[in-house]
Amino acid sequence: MNARVVVAGALYDQGRLLAARRSAPPEFAGRWELPGGKLEPGESPEEALVRELREELGVEAEPVERVPGEWPLGPGYVLQVWTARLISGQPRPLEDHDELRWLAVDELDAVDWLPQDRPAVEEAVRRLSRD
Ligand code: C5P
Repeated sequence: MNARVVVAGALYDQGRLLAARRSAPPEFAGRWELPGGKLEPGESPEEALVRELREELGVEAEPVERVPGEWPLGPGYVLQVWTARLISGQPRPLEDHDELRWLAVDELDAVDWLPQDRPAVEEAVRRLSRD
């Protein structure tokens, strides 16, 4: 069986990366992730990412580049990450999160990332700081 995809966005603005603190479920609450979520039937990963960032943060964003790699989540799911550009809006924690932080590259260790997100964050930042 193919693993189902969860997409997440490495949203970058003015040299900083957006991190989001999960408010649920209890086993993940308080840990930080790149915002995103599961694909809905018929959606491409890019479409799902745009929808999730709109629902969770209230922003319009544009996927830029797939971050190479795929990270296992719970059973049957894998995480794929895109770098993404903010088009409009100020991110707010509308759904699934209770706090957001814009992290400079030297602040990435300041938050307690979900373990599966950490390698994705490192890879995303390598690509973002190259531009
Ligand atoms: O946000 P949603 O509940 O749709 O996410 C689906 C699953 O993917 C959850 O188990 C969540 O913890 C996980 N996830 C993750 N890293 C992300 C986004 C989601 O581990 N950056």
